[in-house]
Order: sequence, then structure tokens, then C-alpha cells
Amino acid sequence: MRILVVEDEAKTAQAILRGLEAEGYSATLAATGDEGLRHLNDRAFDLMVLDWMLPGRDGIEILEALRNRNTKPLVLLLTARDTVEDRVVGLDAGADDYLVKPFAFAELLARIRALLRRTIPEEVLRREIGDLSVDIQSRRVWRAGQEIVLTPREFDLLVLLMRHEGQVVTRPMLAQTIWREPNRATPLDNVIDVHLAHLRKKLDEGRRSKLIQTVRGVGFMLREERHT
Ligand code: CA
Repeated sequence: MRILVVEDEAKTAQAILRGLEAEGYSATLAATGDEGLRHLNDRAFDLMVLDWMLPGRDGIEILEALRNRNTKPLVLLLTARDTVEDRVVGLDAGADDYLVKPFAFAELLARIRALLRRTIPEEVLRREIGDLSVDIQSRRVWRAGQEIVLTPREFDLLVLLMRHEGQVVTRPMLAQTIWREPNRATPLDNVIDVHLAHLRKKLDEGRRSKLIQTVRGVGFMLREERHT
């Protein structure tokens, strides 16, 4: 579970971060809303702990910036404001839950657990590699939150590659699984290559990190290319 913490008060932020890591969550810190948005563009998070009062764009403005995205994290909004009107503003803006400062850390954890529990059934049908997110059920695909439209066959190819993430998928495997063609016929290789080329173009063209790798003479591999 990946959690993004957007909180400008260093002490509170560090305490939350240490606490989340101690609980086994992978936590990333952003000190401003804009920094938080940059992290959200880089990779998918399951949940965001978002402070309302931030320098620059505040928590509500961040929620508004996320509103039209297809993939967004669950949001637990932190705030010192505690009137009914404030809660309504926060929830209307898209927060999934609301926690009033100061809070006990145990309560923060309980809220996070409750929010994540709500999403578990969908979790199984959603797979992520780097900033690629695939919803198996609705057959939709996104990179960095941006939807990519695939043909049914391209989608099947992608799912097969995902099931073998980091391993080579050979042309015969593709022929057998996607085209149900057990005999390796030369013409099919060309068909596979054309579909792979289309899929690669849609997923990787213009992206800094390429996901589909060609293993010369063997097949293909889906893997997050790491830049160090
Ligand atoms: Ca603050």
C-alpha cells in the first residue's frame, strides 16, 4: 500500500511518515500541494493524507485538481477546521474522510485502515506497474492517470504481459494464448509483431520510461525501465 502524505508542518509530517512506515506502509512526503501533485503524476498511490492548510495551492484546490482524473487515491483530509460547513466543503471537494487536528496517531491509522478496507475488492482487479494502471474488469488502461484506449486484442496482450511481469513472453506463448494457435506459423509472427508495435506505440511513445522491452530473438517483456 502506497501512501502520499501532503503536510507542510515538518514535525507533524515526520511523525506521520515514521508511524506509517512502522505499520508497513510505503509512505512518500510532499511539503506543498504542488509537490504532492507532481508525485501523483509520477506514480499511483492508494491513499493520500492531505492537509487542508498548505502554502500555495491548499488541500481543497488539490482535490479540485484531482477531480477529473480516472485514477486517484483515496483521500483523508486533515484540518484544524471543525465546523459542519467545513466538513461539507471538504467532503464535497472529494475527500473520502476527514480528521480534525490535533488527532491521536491511533485514530489516523484506524481511519486509513477503514478507507483501504473499502477498496480491497477492486484492488484485486486492478494491477499497477510503475505509472501504468490496468483495470481488468472494465478493461481500461491508464499511464500517469491518463487513459489509453486499446483494442480488445491489445488489451489481452497487455494482460498476458502483465501476468508475466519481468519475464520473457515468447511469440509461441502469445500465439497460443491470444490467438489460440498451437502451431507456430510464420505468418502469425508478423501479426503478433504488428499488434505489439501498436500496443507499444500507445503505451510508451513519448514516455520517459518504456514498459515493453523486446528480447531479441526470444519475445517480449513488460517491465518498468528504471532510470538511476
Ligand atoms: Ca498545514
